[in-house]
Amino acid sequence: MKNIGRCQNCGRTIPKGETLFEIRIDIYAKGGPIDIDPEDLKKDHIREMKELIKRMENMNVDELTDEVWESYRFDLCKTCRKEFHKKLKLRKKGGLVPRAKSSYRNN
Ligand SMILES: [Zn+2]
Repeated sequence: MKNIGRCQNCGRTIPKGETLFEIRIDIYAKGGPIDIDPEDLKKDHIREMKELIKRMENMNVDELTDEVWESYRFDLCKTCRKEFHKKLKLRKKGGLVPRAKSSYRNN
């Protein structure tokens, strides 16, 4: 049985016959300072991003895109896709993005 990929959120390999999903995160500077909410991202994604940033540090200036735009791509299994779907849907309903700062204070 051949695997079609691996979920970059839970690390599970996706066997043939199961759907592999892809999530893309594009961060654009809309004006003013860029503020990324760390709670939006699962820990594994932050690690992944740090790795990406590390790799980017080794690139030359020409290889780097403008600081005002970043793009990330992750493969997800159906379970993790559902989690993201739920989160995004809740956010859409609620309208407001929960603030990471206040929840950190409660920890
Ligand atoms: Zn997964």
